[in-house]
Amino acid sequence: MIYKWHGKIWQQLISNKAHFPNAILLHGRGGIGKLHLGRTLAQALLCESPLASGEPCEQCGACTWFKAGSHPDFRLLEPEALAALTEPAAEAADTRKPTDKKTSQFITVAQIRELADFVNLTTHCNGLRVILIHPAEAMNVHAANALLKTLEEPPTGTLFILVSHHPQRLLPTIRSRCQKVNIPLPDRADALKWLQGQGTREADSCLAQSGGAPLAAHQLSTEDYQLKRKQVLDQLGAPERLDPLSLAEQGEKTELAWTLNWMQQWVYDLASLSLTARARYQPESSAETIRLAKTINLIELFRFQQELAAAQRTLQHPLNNRLVLEQLFLSYWQLANSQDTAHV
Ligand SMILES: [Zn+2]
Repeated sequence: MIYKWHGKIWQQLISNKAHFPNAILLHGRGGIGKLHLGRTLAQALLCESPLASGEPCEQCGACTWFKAGSHPDFRLLEPEALAALTEPAAEAADTRKPTDKKTSQFITVAQIRELADFVNLTTHCNGLRVILIHPAEAMNVHAANALLKTLEEPPTGTLFILVSHHPQRLLPTIRSRCQKVNIPLPDRADALKWLQGQGTREADSCLAQSGGAPLAAHQLSTEDYQLKRKQVLDQLGAPERLDPLSLAEQGEKTELAWTLNWMQQWVYDLASLSLTARARYQPESSAETIRLAKTINLIELFRFQQELAAAQRTLQHPLNNRLVLEQLFLSYWQLANSQDTAHV
């Protein structure tokens, strides 16, 4: 079953079934179900008797193989670190980084080279092979170049489905070889309905935190995550009581990507409250937050935003997390405690 919010896109994709390009690129925000859409498309193309909607029947031999992860004409390429996660977690991994640093975060050239044997074999079933690559931006440069060679001389009967949260990080030459399909954010009502069906706690708030991506919202709705987030935001909201050093010490025990994400959303909301009186990630802002947004120096706030973005870029090569956090909390403390007198 596809997600309800993918209904329109699904119809477009499946109605084109007879004239599929060699490669398609499904791109959009992390945590909206692109991986599931890509998998369902792969399964539907291999299914022996698809339903009238074009969805896989879930019952034929091909579907049974597919669901067991053993269809001989299908390959899923993803980083080792993601392979261990279940699908919604893998889909939402953009917002919740896998914590195991020992396993590879990349799709390697060896993984792409293994495809060479696969695409040269005769297909087992109806003459079609499907390769799903997720997330495509996890290919390192050697892997991307190896894939490009394959895409330049596409093997017959082989379809590549690339799924990407950040298509701008792909080689332009790979992007140009793919038919690009933008997967939009679901309607808020559809997303909330799905979250309620999952029994997600505080669905409204979690959906705002995820920027409207329901699978990501469900993933970050755990008590532990919300508690850690609240501890950081409470301090950011009361800068006169904020202690940068103890907050950094406490933050060291949390995934750095999470803390950076919370700070970025906080800064975004302060700027947004100051300029438009509306917050995006925490729609119910307290009186203290609104007062802070009114007095903060916006130029300094944007400078701090850049500092956060720079820290974000180093996430793949982790430095000393505690030092990174100390510097960031200290910058924020200075910023939030020096009132912008021109503004008042
Ligand atoms: Zn089937």
